Amino acid sequence: MSVLVFLEFNNNELKETSKQALTYANGINKNVYAISESKISNDVVESLGKFGVSIYLINAVDFKENNILKCIIPTIEEFKINCIIFPKTNSFSYLSSILSTKLNFPLINNVNSVARFENKICLKSTIFSGKAEADIEIDSNSCILVLNKNIINSASYKKSVIIKNLINKNDNSLSNNVVSLKKEKLEGDILLNDADIVVSAGRGLKGPENWKMIEKLAKILNAGTACSKPVSDAGWRPHHEHVGQTGLKISPNIYIAVGISGAIQHLAGVNSSKIIVVINNDSEAPFFKHADYGIIGDAFDVIPKFIDALK
Ligand SMILES: Cc1cc2nc3c(=O)[nH]c(=O)nc-3n(C[C@H](O)[C@H](O)[C@H](O)COP(=O)(O)OP(=O)(O)OC[C@H]3O[C@@H](n4cnc5c(N)ncnc54)[C@H](O)[C@@H]3O)c2cc1C
Repeated sequence: MSVLVFLEFNNNELKETSKQALTYANGINKNVYAISESKISNDVVESLGKFGVSIYLINAVDFKENNILKCIIPTIEEFKINCIIFPKTNSFSYLSSILSTKLNFPLINNVNSVARFENKICLKSTIFSGKAEADIEIDSNSCILVLNKNIINSASYKKSVIIKNLINKNDNSLSNNVVSLKKEKLEGDILLNDADIVVSAGRGLKGPENWKMIEKLAKILNAGTACSKPVSDAGWRPHHEHVGQTGLKISPNIYIAVGISGAIQHLAGVNSSKIIVVINNDSEAPFFKHADYGIIGDAFDVIPKFIDALK
C-alpha cells in the first residue's frame, strides 16, 4: 500500500496527533508521503524525516474543493496512493469525506487499532459515541483512515525527506459550486483536540464570572478548557469549548470535570479520556460512576485549594 498522511502544524510545530498518524503510516509502508495545508519553511520540511515522512508534497494551495479536484486528487492518482491517513480533527472531517466520495475509497472514521492488511483490511473503530468498538473488515485495496488520538505512541525515525510538487491539473471542467468557506481562528492557548489535560466546567459554576479559577487551574496544568452544552448555549463560554454528543469529542490523558452532572450526552464526548477526575458537590452525580478519581465538594472551595496545592 502506498500511504499519504495529512499533517497539521501549530506555529510551524507538527502536532502530536500528526506524529502519531505518521508512526501509524510507517507501520503500513516505510515509504510515507505527507502533505499539509500549512505553509511551512524548508527547515521544518527537512525536519519531518525524524517523524517518519519520506516524501513531502509541497503544497501551494489551500484545501478548498476546487484545489482538491485540481491538485490533490490528481496527485494521489499520479503517485498511486491507496491508503490516506488523517489524524481526527474537525478541519479534516470535510476533507476526508470529499476525498472518499471523489476517489471512491472506503472511509473509516474513529479508527481505534492498528490495521491488519490481509486479503481484507481489518481494524477496530469506536462507534455509538465511543461506547462500543466495532470490528471492521474492508473488502477493498484502498482506504481512508481517520485515527483516534493516542492509539499509538509516536516514534522517531532517521529519514531524509524527498520534496515533490503537487500536480496541478488546470482543467476548467473541474469547477464546482462551493460559494465560500469561512475559517475562524479559535481562541485559547491550547486547542482542545491537542490538549493532554482538559479542565472542563458546567452549570455548577453558576455564571461566566466564575471561570477565572478554571482558567487559572488550566494555565498551571498547561491544559485546555472545555465546558458542557448548557454553558456554551448560555453564552458563558465560546461554542468551540462545548464537548459531548453535539460538540467536540476529545480523548485527553486527563479530563477534569468541575460542576458537571455527567449526562449521557456529555459523556459521549469525553468517555475515551484516559483518566477522568470529577469534582461535584452532589455525591449522587452520575459522573462519579465514570470517574477514576472523585472529589465530593464545593467547586468554589476545592478549586482554589487545588490551585494552591499545585503552586
Ligand atoms: C439531543 C441532546 C444533545 C445534547 N448534547 C450535549 C452535549 O454535547 N454536551 C453536553 O454537555 N450536554 C449535552 N446535552 C445536555 C445534557 O443532557 C445535560 O443537560 C448537560 O450536559 C448538563 O450540563 P451540566 O452538567 O453543566 O449542568 P447540570 O445538569 O445542571 O449539572 C450541574 C452539576 O453541577 C453540580 N454543582 C452545582 N453546584 C456546584 C458546586 N458549587 N460545586 C460543585 N458542583 C456543583 C451539580 O451537583 C450538578 O451535578 C444534550 C442534550 C440533548 C437532549
